[in-house]
Amino acid sequence: MYAYGGTVVLDVTPAGRFAPSPSGDLHIGNLRTAVLAQLFADASGRRFLLRVEDLDRVREGSEQRQLADLAALGLRWAQPLVRQSDRRSVYETVIARLTADGHTFECFCTRREILDAPSAPHAPQGAYPGTCRDLTESEREERRRTRPAAIRLRADVAEFTVHDVLHGDFTGDVDDFVLRRNDGTPAYNLAVVVDDAETGVDQVVRGDDLLTSAPRQAYLATRLGSSPPEYAHVPMVLNTAGARLAKRDGAVTLADLADTDVDASDVLSLIAVSLGMASAGERVTLDVLRDRFDPARLPRDPWIFAGAP
Ligand code: GLU
Repeated sequence: MYAYGGTVVLDVTPAGRFAPSPSGDLHIGNLRTAVLAQLFADASGRRFLLRVEDLDRVREGSEQRQLADLAALGLRWAQPLVRQSDRRSVYETVIARLTADGHTFECFCTRREILDAPSAPHAPQGAYPGTCRDLTESEREERRRTRPAAIRLRADVAEFTVHDVLHGDFTGDVDDFVLRRNDGTPAYNLAVVVDDAETGVDQVVRGDDLLTSAPRQAYLATRLGSSPPEYAHVPMVLNTAGARLAKRDGAVTLADLADTDVDASDVLSLIAVSLGMASAGERVTLDVLRDRFDPARLPRDPWIFAGAP
């Protein structure tokens, strides 16, 4: 049983979700992931939630445009929308309970200090070297005077295995990762896990750039008494140079594409073709895609987007 819950709601019937950060417009790669998240949820009889991950990097007007773009493609999500900025007190409660149980510690390291610290033998590259893990109370007192602390999880494993529908079993590093940054912002890894657990999300479909985050998140879920979700990390969309698609690659958002006379329905068709679920030029709707959806037949390689034909 999830033991660290906040005070809120929540409907815990099984759900899938899409969780964009409102830091700019969604590009065709993000939209493709969103379509897949909806199809995975629908095909497995789950509710579909939309979560706005607005704890930082928020750009004015971006949330509204993202929601409008998703709706224009035909996506439908359950109400209410989950907005992370409304849930800060829940994350604080979880951190306070983990702390009361001795599962966290204060960390005063700067990024530079972490990079420069000799790492423990066998520790994975980039893992937190443990500098502040065992400080005495008087050492902590002294450091608090120089810098606000981040809060880290006291991890008791070095790796964790998750199951992914497309990648099979995936084992990745787990270190004493940050739960609250030293500016007071709840960390992404904490917020995602708490939100998924509290809203019934037991299926996570997202870009495969986040596959390496899954072991940490799944491990934290177990530490909170919740079961890790089923994962499907879907291939990214790349530009013709093989780099991750970005705004500078030209017309990649619905608004840019509309300026070149490619409307939302054309974009859905392009996405469907890229997924092997429609033939070139064929008109489709999400209902049609729902009927055709078969996770086993999804492409495993990135989609190279060279612009709308
Ligand atoms: N908000 C994250 C992003 O936009 C996704 C988080 C997730 O799906 O777990 O990259």
